[in-house]
Amino acid sequence: MKRFACGDIIPGCASSFTAADDEGILVQTRRHAVEAHGAAEPGTDSDVLVRPAIRPA
Ligand SMILES: [Zn+2]
Repeated sequence: MKRFACGDIIPGCASSFTAADDEGILVQTRRHAVEAHGAAEPGTDSDVLVRPAIRPA
């Protein structure tokens, strides 16, 4: 399993995500970027920030 805590890259965000693999995390964080952080659309722009912060869970 993999885990990503959004607060690791965006201080103050309490959201965290778990999934079987990196792609499972990224599917969730693309949507989260729109819903919580004002991204215009659920694209892959955030992947470059999220991917290095994904940890084994
Ligand atoms: Zn967040």
